[in-house]
Amino acid sequence: MSPRKRTEPAALPAPVSPERHAALHGPLLSWYDRNKRDLPWRRTRDPYAIWLSEVMLQQTQVATVIPYWERFLARFPSVKALASAPLDDVLSGWKGLGYYSRARNLHRAAREVVERFGGKLPATAEELLTLPGFGRYTSGAVASIAFGEQAPIVDGNVARVLSRLFEVEGVPGDREREATLWALASALVKGERPGDFNQALMEHGATVCRPESPLCLLCPVRDGCFAYRKGRVEELPPAKVRAAPRKLFLALAVWPHEGTLLFARRADKGLFGGLWELPAVEVEEDTPEAEATARLATALGTALTLEATLDSVRRQLTHRDLTLRLLRVRGGSRPTRASAFQELRWCTPQEAEALGMSTAMQRALDAALGHGVLESGAPPAKKAAGRSARKTAGR
Ligand code: SF4
Repeated sequence: MSPRKRTEPAALPAPVSPERHAALHGPLLSWYDRNKRDLPWRRTRDPYAIWLSEVMLQQTQVATVIPYWERFLARFPSVKALASAPLDDVLSGWKGLGYYSRARNLHRAAREVVERFGGKLPATAEELLTLPGFGRYTSGAVASIAFGEQAPIVDGNVARVLSRLFEVEGVPGDREREATLWALASALVKGERPGDFNQALMEHGATVCRPESPLCLLCPVRDGCFAYRKGRVEELPPAKVRAAPRKLFLALAVWPHEGTLLFARRADKGLFGGLWELPAVEVEEDTPEAEATARLATALGTALTLEATLDSVRRQLTHRDLTLRLLRVRGGSRPTRASAFQELRWCTPQEAEALGMSTAMQRALDAALGHGVLESGAPPAKKAAGRSARKTAGR
């Protein structure tokens, strides 16, 4: 049994009077019944399918999720099917959705569900919390929607609605604010149809109580909204101050050999953890090509010669401004293992399609192929005078 995670913030006094509960719970449920969007995961009672939707919807828009959810379910139709699939297949099914740690955790959790619960998701938020990737939100969502437990949820939409309804102060991320929001959500979810009520709160936040220009005139609980009464709707909740994305530069080895390229699987932790790529090392913005090649040589454990600089691919991630520099290289001995990576493989572009690669790395691969690196006699893009880089230790 995994160690149990902490489930509750410090106990708070019951924050919602029975009158206020009645004024919010019923009207929000009725509004939801009349206005909910017809989404595919709302037509199923399958806990696995509901869990999958909740994981995909974290950090991804509904419209983007729908086709991914349908394809993923068709490919892995049950917890057991997911648990028995190789991780590479799962990552490949996730391709394009980003935040791949979600897919890795989904896979690990599926295996634990098979081992510990006979392939059936446990029905309580407390037990779900013991599984990889299940935080308080996901546990509450699955327990309430799939199993009807009166378990609370707080996501960005719910936090905004509750902040306005109850005039909760504090910036997103503030511990006291978060504890207050969870206490409010816990009190409000008590009552009939907890899963629908949680979805009503989220739906209301997504479509009516929106971040910008909320539709207060259409709001079913406007009379009970403190922020509306006091004219504070625009100022609650205060915007979170976001740090600027960190610039990250990676040098990628494009190493053609008889119709194949060298691919590497990254370590499980960190950015793109567990995914496949053209072997990459971190460099600085002004790292000379020869030095970047030397670092690649070290990572791959073999001497490399830089043949050409092919291209740079930029990609904006939520927290990173990524630049991938493609270096066409060749080496003496072809490695099949390297300590910097989990695995190395020589693959044709067709074989590489089955590997789990991030969208950024896929773009880099497309760019490399666009330079004709696998076409015999293709001229290098920008000749690099055949400089040789010896593998070096600790650089
Ligand atoms: Fe949100 Fe406006 Fe309704 Fe208040 S009245 S809950 S701010 S939509």
